[in-house]
Amino acid sequence: MSTSICPCGSGTLLDACCGHYHAGHPAPCAQALMRSRYSAYVLGLVDYLVATTLPGLDRQSISDWSAQSTWLGLEVESSEVLGGQPEHAFVTFTARWHDSNGEHSHRERSSFVQNAGRWYFIDPTVQLKLGRNDPCPCASGQKFKKCCAGYFSS
Ligand SMILES: [Zn+2]
Ligand SMILES: [Zn+2]
Repeated sequence: MSTSICPCGSGTLLDACCGHYHAGHPAPCAQALMRSRYSAYVLGLVDYLVATTLPGLDRQSISDWSAQSTWLGLEVESSEVLGGQPEHAFVTFTARWHDSNGEHSHRERSSFVQNAGRWYFIDPTVQLKLGRNDPCPCASGQKFKKCCAGYFSS
């Protein structure tokens, strides 16, 4: 058990906040997942970042980025639940970090999808190896083009 404050900025103890999700409990909403992923970056929990990214994506870049950065803070601006089946959501946030090039801040509107009670981050920067008619990697049972394809930038 840890008595440290959660790095996501909630002001509560890690064990009562994102640590709960890191331990395996499903995050109840996209915003909670996003916060717990930020905390996982801070704490270097690469396995958690991999486990909460939409399956079938390239994972190598996750661990590289996490290891090279010092995280300074997170502000969640808004979250929008879009509904549908499977359920998609957007979370808008600003993250600040420090690396060998100095201090950075990055504002992003991230996409998330929920399947079977688990939320996943849709990483729009990865190269997809699947076709538009393939089954969607979120395991909704729908074709990719009808499901999560619209949340990728390419
Ligand atoms: Zn937290
Ligand atoms: Zn999907």
